[in-house]
Amino acid sequence: MRFIALFVLVFLLPFPLHAGDAPRNIILLIGDGMGLAQISAARKIRKDLSITQIKQIALMSTDSADDYVTDSAASATAMAGGVKTNNGFIGLDPNKKRLKNIFEIAKEKGLQTAVIATSRITHATPAAFVAHVDSREKELDIALQLSQSSVDLLLGGGADMFLPHKGLGGKRNDGRNLLQKQGNDKLITRSVHQYLSSDRLPQLALIETDDLPRARNRHYSLGQLLQKALSLLEKEKRGFLIMIEGSQIDWGGHKKDLDYVIEEMLDFDSAVNIALQYAKKDPHTLVLVTGDHETGGLSLLAYDKSVNRFNGYSFASRHHSGTLIPLFSFGPGSEQFQGLMENSTLGKHLVDIISSQKTK
Ligand SMILES: [Zn+2]
Repeated sequence: MRFIALFVLVFLLPFPLHAGDAPRNIILLIGDGMGLAQISAARKIRKDLSITQIKQIALMSTDSADDYVTDSAASATAMAGGVKTNNGFIGLDPNKKRLKNIFEIAKEKGLQTAVIATSRITHATPAAFVAHVDSREKELDIALQLSQSSVDLLLGGGADMFLPHKGLGGKRNDGRNLLQKQGNDKLITRSVHQYLSSDRLPQLALIETDDLPRARNRHYSLGQLLQKALSLLEKEKRGFLIMIEGSQIDWGGHKKDLDYVIEEMLDFDSAVNIALQYAKKDPHTLVLVTGDHETGGLSLLAYDKSVNRFNGYSFASRHHSGTLIPLFSFGPGSEQFQGLMENSTLGKHLVDIISSQKTK
């Protein structure tokens, strides 16, 4: 009996893994504005939420370097570079020194990389994984840096930030058309249909002129966008790093609109589902799911079973809050993400994990 068990262990497990194994693929999913209340609300509406299937859970503190309550720029910078910074800063430390981010390290290691968001791709969270500027408002500068970056796939809205005002109706007043200057080898797609039917990885997939529509007005889910990215990235078998953001959970909170929050949570969860399915198929994949901060100070007070709706809830503010947020992890390396962590510690761990990869 013992013999058979040993045989099964050694020969039949397709990918034998042990605790110390470093992941080859990393998928970081960020629900902007997603705290425990946002998850609690979505979980009431859909019982089989993918996010709550993950067993390994930590808590994360999100304070920025200069404020108890962070903004998305500072929190994403901490996760991307492992250092806390001031609110509004993108990829810079509090002294405005450029921080090397995990996407730059991943590129040096020969990994493929993708940044995906349901906002403009120049918005604070996606920007903080690629660009370096002292204000999140400088979206035209961010667009320029994004267009020159080595990230393999940038997918989201915000095409207007790349196009000149004159002639093409974009937002750029420097006359530059950043979608023209990509060179012949780089593919640019301008619609979700083009992206979903492409058999080549586009470097820029700017599928809206501004932000993506909210989930209820979209005919595709964030999960579909991720699934397509995975199928294009895995072709090269080099390993990959993906940051994918459910950007608008936050916007529902700013609007004190619980339906908006829940719909965006369910859309975000569709991406968590795809990521987990992938990680179960390829066990060299680490999946991390977290938020950058909570938005709205949401508290859930009463639920009406007869109509399946919350009939008592309150948003304490129209802004972010400083409460701890959960961090879910699945796959090799997930044991490092436990207890109460700083968002910058999550970033430091990612820097270490990616730095320790062999160069491909
Ligand atoms: Zn916000």
